[in-house]
Amino acid sequence: MQKQPVTVIGLGPMGQAMVGAFLDQGHPVTVWNRTASRADDLVARGAARADTLAQALAANELVVLSLTDYAAMYDVLGSATAALPGRVLANLSSDTPEQARDAAQWAAGHGATHLTGGVLVPPPAIGKPGSSTFYSGAREAFEAHRETLAVLTDTDYRGEDPGLAALFYQLNMDMFWTCMLSWLHSLAVARANGITAKDLLPTAIRATDLRYFLEFYTGRIDADEHPGDVDRLAMGVASVEHVVHTTRDSGVDPALPATVLEIFRRGLATGHGSDSFTSLIDVLAARP
Ligand code: NDP
Repeated sequence: MQKQPVTVIGLGPMGQAMVGAFLDQGHPVTVWNRTASRADDLVARGAARADTLAQALAANELVVLSLTDYAAMYDVLGSATAALPGRVLANLSSDTPEQARDAAQWAAGHGATHLTGGVLVPPPAIGKPGSSTFYSGAREAFEAHRETLAVLTDTDYRGEDPGLAALFYQLNMDMFWTCMLSWLHSLAVARANGITAKDLLPTAIRATDLRYFLEFYTGRIDADEHPGDVDRLAMGVASVEHVVHTTRDSGVDPALPATVLEIFRRGLATGHGSDSFTSLIDVLAARP
């Protein structure tokens, strides 16, 4: 039986990996990209190049978008809205929940169905086990195309609200970028002390495996309980001060841990010194 044909628009590193995964699994793929030459290798592997965007949209019901952001989607699709009726746009470009909700309305206004996607893995993991993408939007359209979309990554459907997949994605990125930056910061301090990234790797892997702490504190946070029976914020302040001092003593810019320290100290100033550091969630939630 012929596999479902699919159109992919946007051939950055991610779109290219997605086309490759579809081709590997025997799905006929039509491709279009603003810079047409990016399709050359994929065409050599069996993809069909659409000469115009309208042809790309007309070719298949399921259209995967892999663009830098939603502004790029309007730039691209805005020129061919007449070809949109009946299309299911699986938009795997990342942007904010509000952008996703607006896009779903915009697509519906042009007779298309928008599915929001938030891809959680880098291009080399596309088509590999263990990868995952958040989806949200019209359930019926998602269910109709789930099997084909699952060629790319596992699918994690979060509900009908088109903003939800984008929200879960942004929550993921919130953690990802701050964790990655803290790793880079510790590497800057390590390097200033003659320690390489390779030397630090086992320590870095242990330090960023926060599963025990997340599981321990999750129930307490949902219950709004922050007892200082295991850790006290006053201890946390002293600990972060040590990080700031070690950074300075190493001749490295302390901006990152200094920001962390400032947040910890705000918690102290609001009387949470004897509570757990998790009481900082109220400090973080309040706009200064
Ligand atoms: P890139 O930004 O490298 O490529 C995006 C594509 O968007 C290119 O095909 C580019 O066309 C096109 N594009 C950008 N602006 C416009 C425009 N104004 N008009 C027409 N086309 C435009 O992104 P990636 O491929 O790396 O990623 C795609 C999406 O996937 C992004 O939203 C990203 O956040 C998300 N993502 C990426 C990951 C990664 O590791 N790369 C991981 C998880 C999610 P052209 O070739 O002509 O420049």
